[in-house]
Amino acid sequence: TNDYVHKNVLVLGLAKSGLAVAKLLQTLGANVTVNDMKPKEENPSAVELEKLGMKVICGSHPSYLLENTDLIVKNPGIPYSNPLLQEAVKLEIPIITEVEVAYKVSEADIIAITGSNGKTTTTTLIHEMLIADGKKALIAGNIGTVASEVAQKAPADSVIVMELSSFQLLGTIEFKPKIALILNLFEAHLDYHGTKDEYIRAKGLIYKNQRSGDVGIVNLEDSEVCHLAEASDATKVYFSTSRVLENGAYIKDNHIWFNDEMVVSLNDVVLPGKHNLENILASIAAVKMRGVSNGAITKVLTTFTGVKHRLQYVDSIKERRFYNDSKATNILATSKALQAFKVPTILLAGGLDRGNEFDELIPFLQNVKAVITFGQTAPKLERIAAEAGIEVVKRVDNVEQAVNAAFSSSNEGDVILLSPACASWDQYKTFEQRGDIFINAVHNLK
Ligand code: ADP
Repeated sequence: TNDYVHKNVLVLGLAKSGLAVAKLLQTLGANVTVNDMKPKEENPSAVELEKLGMKVICGSHPSYLLENTDLIVKNPGIPYSNPLLQEAVKLEIPIITEVEVAYKVSEADIIAITGSNGKTTTTTLIHEMLIADGKKALIAGNIGTVASEVAQKAPADSVIVMELSSFQLLGTIEFKPKIALILNLFEAHLDYHGTKDEYIRAKGLIYKNQRSGDVGIVNLEDSEVCHLAEASDATKVYFSTSRVLENGAYIKDNHIWFNDEMVVSLNDVVLPGKHNLENILASIAAVKMRGVSNGAITKVLTTFTGVKHRLQYVDSIKERRFYNDSKATNILATSKALQAFKVPTILLAGGLDRGNEFDELIPFLQNVKAVITFGQTAPKLERIAAEAGIEVVKRVDNVEQAVNAAFSSSNEGDVILLSPACASWDQYKTFEQRGDIFINAVHNLK
């Protein structure tokens, strides 16, 4: 038996995760109703679920849906300001995301990762390190695979490495990962959470139910993270990019250490940037809790060149190194990327104009010798480049032209970096498409 047998469950939102969790709940014996704003005619998932015998209501969120509803599983993207959810809160109907269901059905241990920045990179690193050590590990969550779907199939002797957003965590009640990790907390998603406190509270749910014997991994350099961890009964393990620790992962004598053990030389680490060092230390702290060997960790760190589009090393052509950081859709991300390189850099940037002025980028332009701009924000980026005293500034129509312009302005030893500081939607469907075009253009230089 399980918690969902004979329960009347309303699944709100039929994206990939809604579709998967609706099917799962039905197989667990729940009476499932699904509701989506998109009309049925344009909604293949709705038709599929109807065929499976579920009640499917599309086009609006009528309030009668709440009659006899025991539980709501909502898509993480639907805000609590939604009138139907507000009504459900009044009626005290529990509201969860499919992550809670994942926890309930999983026989495998869960390693859960959240934070404002670096989630995907860290989740990928942890997964690769476990695999390199011969462990059974599955990857799930925000990263692209639906958590509950993975959890249902995961063997008891495996471990699920799960990337979680604050939106997903907000819909958890009993969720209790064996290992939980918060990388860092910046102010983010205020449009959804309302206040920074609400956002931090949502992230804190990752540690909340943990008990002694479960592990909470904590960034000692982030006071908000430390604060959240203090409120939890988890056994704590720390990481720090600037202090030597007795209990955790840290840097000393050009090596990464865990407790009193030397793990890997920094010379063996391919991934650039101090921010990635944070992700690496966090990953090591997590996998050390599963007994992963230093050999397996080293093997991953000497070969891992980054998750696609996240400061990803693409290629070296005539002694110029090309990096794709198309995921950098804001100023903070681009500033991190720029800090990763100590050599002359040519920056390719621009995109959707959200009203930013980009002045915060100026302090990070010291190593930038040329800026190639494209998209709506080109004039604004040109203004700050001029202010920073950069002499070579060129405007082009698109990313392909930007690669060619950058190459003709470059010398041996330069880094050529796509880190747009803007979303792609003025010219490209997604940041992935923009990054793929960059990669192709680099390969076409050969
Ligand atoms: P997320 O999944 O949290 O969005 P990613 O791993 O996809 O994070 O990285 C997105 C971008 O965030 C990277 O391109 C980089 O610029 C920046 N970033 C990554 N890790 C960190 C970190 N630990 N601290 C600050 N910024 C980071």
